[in-house]
Amino acid sequence: MIDFNVPPYVGTELKYVEEAVAVNHKICGDGPFTHRCNAWLEQKTGTAKALLTTSCTHATEMAALLADIREGDEVIMPSYTFVSTADAFVLRGAVPVFVDIRPDTMNIDEKKIEAAVTERTRAIVPVHYAGVSCEMDVIMDIAKKYHLHVIEDAAQGVMSTYKGKQLGTIGDYGCYSFHETKNYSMGEGGALLIRDPENVERAEIIREKGTNRAKFFRGQIDKYTWVDAGSSYLPGDMNAAYLLAQLDMADAIFEDRMRSWNLYQELLTPLAKAGKIELPFIPEGCNHNAHMFYVKAKDIEERSALIRFLKEHGIQAVFHYIPLHSAPAGQRFGRFHGEDIYTTKESERLLRLPMYYGLKEEQVQYIAETIEEFYA
Ligand SMILES: *Cc1c(COP(=O)(O)O)cnc(C)c1O
Repeated sequence: MIDFNVPPYVGTELKYVEEAVAVNHKICGDGPFTHRCNAWLEQKTGTAKALLTTSCTHATEMAALLADIREGDEVIMPSYTFVSTADAFVLRGAVPVFVDIRPDTMNIDEKKIEAAVTERTRAIVPVHYAGVSCEMDVIMDIAKKYHLHVIEDAAQGVMSTYKGKQLGTIGDYGCYSFHETKNYSMGEGGALLIRDPENVERAEIIREKGTNRAKFFRGQIDKYTWVDAGSSYLPGDMNAAYLLAQLDMADAIFEDRMRSWNLYQELLTPLAKAGKIELPFIPEGCNHNAHMFYVKAKDIEERSALIRFLKEHGIQAVFHYIPLHSAPAGQRFGRFHGEDIYTTKESERLLRLPMYYGLKEEQVQYIAETIEEFYA
């Protein structure tokens, strides 16, 4: 069986974890490995501050608190996304306002955002699907015009860029995921990227249960105390150690995934040219990170048949994201602005192929051949 996902493992993780336990004697949050991960992310992305979190979901919750999202506020986002994108704002009493996606990238259609802005709109949450950037120039212009926060759901976008800028560094806040299904992993985990230095101190306070403990550890104050509302969003240092092992090998992981992605693209292009399937589209100015390779079948029936065929041939291919506006909670908490032209239709056609660090060339060849066989 070729699994859809295998968590990344480079081989040095346990050595790093052992160091956390047996050398550092520091396994709670904000130990040496967390600091090294934060520094790595800051150096790699150029953001003012990166803070490791327990998940991307929690990073997004922190961003919602930092943006002072309140009851009745509206937050514009795509419906074709993971539940966390909406949950973080629903927890603050806000209304997710879903906007249709572009069929080519599956990202929010930047041309449809402005019409969804009302006097209650407070933020736009672009989701960089498959690590391919949204049209950030257009989104940032709208945000500036209407004084909106931009919180990037860059869960899938670590090591991707838009016009040379790392995803997650363009909006006020960027949220990364290090879940085991993502390119770089610590099991469960994430990071919050903070663009503007003036927002860093409050982010540190929110992340440390509303205390100024980070300042205390830096020796800037002689005792720490409760100064604001907050929660516990920091991961243990063993998880950070696991992640650092992978960040130290980030280029190798990136290149390995990119080889598989490019091979899929090369081998499946004839089928796409023949009009049987559609392949991912990467717009000008976007450099992706090979997070995902997908194909689009004609419709949901053809996709179901393809999933079955691949399964019979030992290949696990999956789809995801029942559009949020059609889910029970989405109907209760949110609303769709405008017409759903592409969100439902395109989500029903999309099928994700196996993609992970260590996927072999022969495996990609076999998967591509099997898809060809299905359409023959
Ligand atoms: C994976 C993912 C998340 C959630 O990440 P966690 O780290 O599991 O909380 C959020 N949004 C998108 C688009 C994702 O792919």
